[in-house]
Amino acid sequence: MTPMPLIVATTCDLAGKVRGKAFPASQLEKRLKRGVGWVPTNVMINCFDSIGESPFGSLGDLLLVPDAATEVKVDFGVGASEHFLLGDIVTLEGAPWDYCTRALLRAALARLHRVAGVRLIAAFEHEFQLRGEPAIPNQGFGREAFEQQRPFLEMLMGALEQAGLNPDSIMKEYGPNQYEVVVGPQEGLRAADEAVILRELTRSAARANGERATFVPIRDVTSVGNGVHVHMSFVNDEGEALTYDADGPCGMSGLTGAFSAGILKYLENIVALTAPSAISYERLTPHRWSAAYNNLGFRDREASLRICPVTTKDPAAIARQFNIEYRAADAAACPHLALAAIVHAGVQGIEEGLTPPAPTQDDLSLLSHEDLTARGFVRLPTSLEAALDRFEANATATGWFPDGFASVYRAHKNSEIACLAGLDTPARCAAYEETY
Ligand code: GLU
Ligand code: MG
Repeated sequence: MTPMPLIVATTCDLAGKVRGKAFPASQLEKRLKRGVGWVPTNVMINCFDSIGESPFGSLGDLLLVPDAATEVKVDFGVGASEHFLLGDIVTLEGAPWDYCTRALLRAALARLHRVAGVRLIAAFEHEFQLRGEPAIPNQGFGREAFEQQRPFLEMLMGALEQAGLNPDSIMKEYGPNQYEVVVGPQEGLRAADEAVILRELTRSAARANGERATFVPIRDVTSVGNGVHVHMSFVNDEGEALTYDADGPCGMSGLTGAFSAGILKYLENIVALTAPSAISYERLTPHRWSAAYNNLGFRDREASLRICPVTTKDPAAIARQFNIEYRAADAAACPHLALAAIVHAGVQGIEEGLTPPAPTQDDLSLLSHEDLTARGFVRLPTSLEAALDRFEANATATGWFPDGFASVYRAHKNSEIACLAGLDTPARCAAYEETY
């Protein structure tokens, strides 16, 4: 017997899980054209592998067509190389399927281009925790805990490079056994693809080192969460950077200001898509350097949307580096779906001609509800149920997605919530730690 090399065609679905079907590597050319068979009910498999009430039941057939541009082949030196591609889910007639997360992101990016004539450049910054070795205490940003995991961290960065990503930096983050990994920016769809690839390779590299990595939004509510921060900027078709204007508020161009104002206006409606687990709302609380209000921050890590610093004085380089960072996301979200929601909210702000609020510099958690409202801020939803209610209640936000999407998403999430019945918060965190 000779082992047969296999390639997995995958999708990152509504649960933010990567699922797929493998085919013999010798069939790659054919499969890039024809895809592999796929099932509509995938949309209802939640992150705990139970199936919510599906509008599709056992009916229907789809195709999952791998995209050659996403090919990942990495040899971790243990067993066979990992070999997979991300793909698009299409109907048997070849049309994009309403619940294909890549198609949903493509539609959002196309709307941005139609409305503003620009392309989105994005970079995802990820935090995760290792579950095996006991944490060395007092190692926030610590070198010693970095060295403890150096073989894994070097393997991870090498794997990312081999997969075609541009590893930027990696650190021992503040929390126990928490690390942060950053890759360079890419155009919208590729950036989301890379976020999926990064999560998969992080878990694989950890396993290859006898460790287990988790991207759980929060592991222990007495400590910090694992965020996903999405950095965004704009270029036109000529590649000219359009995010910065030296004379704009905090350096924001008119386009950036309107896009940011749209995100802040609709943040409470989209957070169910960007921070979509039941425990995500334990992370989105004040004083955790995450995001609790729909505020803009100038270099402030307690803001949902942060204007990031630049590290140059050269005007052309500033224009290229300048970016805004969305902080109300976590890795329970499919990166494509999260980015689609963020982009639609931003484009809505451009269409509505919104202007951004002044950045906050004070602690909003000290304000009364009345003072918050008077200043135009809302406390973000404090539970997944409330976040889903605010998504469903906003016809503008649900209208960015295909007909029926919001109710299918709600049914999916209701089935996830049902799996947590009777569990206290630590047990819920533990359940999510196992799945993300
Ligand atoms: N761990 C924080 C979060 O949950 C982010 C810390 C940082 O600014 O990197 O988003
Ligand atoms: Mg961090």
